Amino acid sequence: MAKLIDGRAVAEKVYVDLRREIADLKAKGITPGLAVILVGDNPASSAYVRSKNRMCHELGLHSVKLELPASTTQTELLARVNEFNRDSSIHGILVQSPPPEHIDEAAIVRSLDPRKDVDGFHPENVAKLVLEDASGFVPCTPLGVQRLLLESDIEISGAHVVVLGRSMIVGKPVALLLMQKNKNGNATVTVVHSRSHDLAHITRSADIVIAAIGRAEFLRADHIREGAVVIDVGINRVEDPARQRGYRLVGDIAFDEVSKKASAITPVPGGVGPMTIAMLMANTVKAARQFVRGGSPESPTGD
Ligand code: NAP
Repeated sequence: MAKLIDGRAVAEKVYVDLRREIADLKAKGITPGLAVILVGDNPASSAYVRSKNRMCHELGLHSVKLELPASTTQTELLARVNEFNRDSSIHGILVQSPPPEHIDEAAIVRSLDPRKDVDGFHPENVAKLVLEDASGFVPCTPLGVQRLLLESDIEISGAHVVVLGRSMIVGKPVALLLMQKNKNGNATVTVVHSRSHDLAHITRSADIVIAAIGRAEFLRADHIREGAVVIDVGINRVEDPARQRGYRLVGDIAFDEVSKKASAITPVPGGVGPMTIAMLMANTVKAARQFVRGGSPESPTGD
């Protein structure tokens, strides 16, 4: 039976370190500040924003939640982003995805001050990830995956990592992060997607499989080799009449069968999910730290 990688426990560890850093910053007169903009009333987005806000309060961060109606125009939204860009009490800004359809999300992301782009989606931060410039912001879920592996003492260097999915939020950045030429990277990375041939053949050659495709329980026992490490990023709703809410959450991995073959595995929920919020908090603290230092780069430790 695989060892369970407990994302909540690792996230708690991250918070212990962050509390210390936040206290240090406050002693210098800086309270890290995060602004979260939510446009519209998508229930899942509202829930994510609430948990981000709650965590800011628990850590003693300055937190601003701006809820705008679904009818908000592109121009109005750009104006609100610009206010936060200029606000020196705010070090991190995120616009909860997805915005309503009439909003050009890419243009909104480009309007963020890249030094405050704690989601790591601005082209300047994407370039910094490719260039291995540690002053940039890496998207939170990939950072969380890397941290889970490191905290679980799983050797990344030299390992063959197969990433399922090539989105800009998970697949591409996690591949770039784990192949970086530093002590927290150095993996040999293969990325597969919906057009890949003989996917099972490729995933069976992996030491570490990272699944981020959004297909409920897609990855089965015969997709992995005995003893592989398996990280499940997927969050999928499947109908479950036995539950009051009528559904339950499952990952992209068929947990019951894969956990009998893997050496370590993340559960859903309670694996990658809690790490995403922890890394958002870590990125906000990093933004505040860099603000104090006037934007000077950090060492590439992956923190
Ligand atoms: P996305 O933008 O929809 O991308 C999905 C990727 O999976 C695409 O690259 C797609 O290939 C690939 N794919 C789809 N079906 C496939 C198949 N049958 N075989 C191989 N590849 C396939 O999704 P995302 O935003 O990256 O999210 C992926 C999953 O992670 C979702 O369940 C999402 O809810 C979850 N997620 C979780 C967190 C967290 O905090 N835990 C954060 C973000 C996302 P093509 O490029 O060829 O279309």
